[in-house]
Amino acid sequence: MVNLLEMSRRELEGFFAGLGEKPFRAKQVMRWVHATRIGELAAMSDISKALRQRLGELATISAPTAISDTLAEDGTRKWLFRIDGANAVETVYIPEAVAGEDCSAEPGAGGIGRGTLCISTQAGCALDCAFCSTGKQGFNRNLRTAEIVGQLWHADRVLEPRGAGLAAISNVVLMGMGEPLANLEQVLPALEIFLDDAAYGLSRRRVTLSTSGIVPAIDRLREACPVALAVSLHAPTDSLRDQLVPINRKYPLAQLMAACQRYLEKAPRDFVTFEYVLLDGVNDRVEHAQQLLRLVAELPCKFNLIPFNPFPKAPFRRSPRAQMLVFQKVLLDAGIVTTLRKTRGEDIDAACGQLAGKIFDRTQRTARSTSLEAQS
Ligand code: SAH
Ligand code: SF4
Repeated sequence: MVNLLEMSRRELEGFFAGLGEKPFRAKQVMRWVHATRIGELAAMSDISKALRQRLGELATISAPTAISDTLAEDGTRKWLFRIDGANAVETVYIPEAVAGEDCSAEPGAGGIGRGTLCISTQAGCALDCAFCSTGKQGFNRNLRTAEIVGQLWHADRVLEPRGAGLAAISNVVLMGMGEPLANLEQVLPALEIFLDDAAYGLSRRRVTLSTSGIVPAIDRLREACPVALAVSLHAPTDSLRDQLVPINRKYPLAQLMAACQRYLEKAPRDFVTFEYVLLDGVNDRVEHAQQLLRLVAELPCKFNLIPFNPFPKAPFRRSPRAQMLVFQKVLLDAGIVTTLRKTRGEDIDAACGQLAGKIFDRTQRTARSTSLEAQS
């Protein structure tokens, strides 16, 4: 059985060629699976009964099951998807214009009725950034393409459109659980499906991949599918970044900045977005902001400052608001577009692995996460 949900246009064309069918079937089926919000083989009315029957024998449309669906007071909505007996991942929808200040590399743009879906790419994460609750859960497994696409497929089916001809989801960000560039094999076909006109038809500018900085994979993405890029910077020097984002020990800042420059040659936007979580007394001083200015002097970029989201036993505090504003002003005064992310959906823990984290805490699912809990 193949899962139609994870097949890119090319793969579907190959599949239909194998059945002796014309390539245009791929586009037809893609439309039914993704764009019509119906997604059932039986409903594919422009496909002959015989072919539908054949498909019924050979193919399924199989998405992960949503095991919880929570709506915050501010309209943020969060799903927890079961992906197998031991693992669940989360997806967050952030509606309306404010989404630009949240989970997106495109602050303020997009206008009325914009909605951003924040998608997970791994169950857990191996990179263990010091301030991240997903990292603290350890790495469990890569999501399959169908599990990545399935998050958008499900949300798109259950969300009300924003208006005539406007789907609820205008932007997708790979900023949920996991490191997308550590799972590029499964992420790339998902990106192709997000961009395909017969599926979701999102432009490259409206799909943002967030990475902690796996340099060779940034180059691969640039060649294979250059969507908008957000880089989790969080520190202006190698000595501090080594502590906060351990992958920096392998790919230090000079290499990361060079990879960002190379990425811009193919990127759909003429800047890179840097995410920067503000940690009280750790990376939020004026001198850090000044060091950042020197670091990015040659690179067209924007900054998205993120208030730290605390989680149980986290060894950091959120910077006081006044300090965040001072930090922001240093960057703004140097002419760098810098947004301060609003915290959204706090009543439903709509941030960075927190809901799944709580469930894991309750069940003490794996020895690894239990021992990490004990250490922290
Ligand atoms: N692994 C990728 C994408 C997922 S994390 C990455 O690191 O970029 C998405 C964003 O959430 C990253 O910028 C990450 O640094 C940030 N983040 C992680 N934990 C956080 C926390 N406790 N509070 C605020 N932001 C956090
Ligand atoms: Fe992984 Fe990103 Fe969390 Fe770091 S911040 S541990 S890379 S999910």
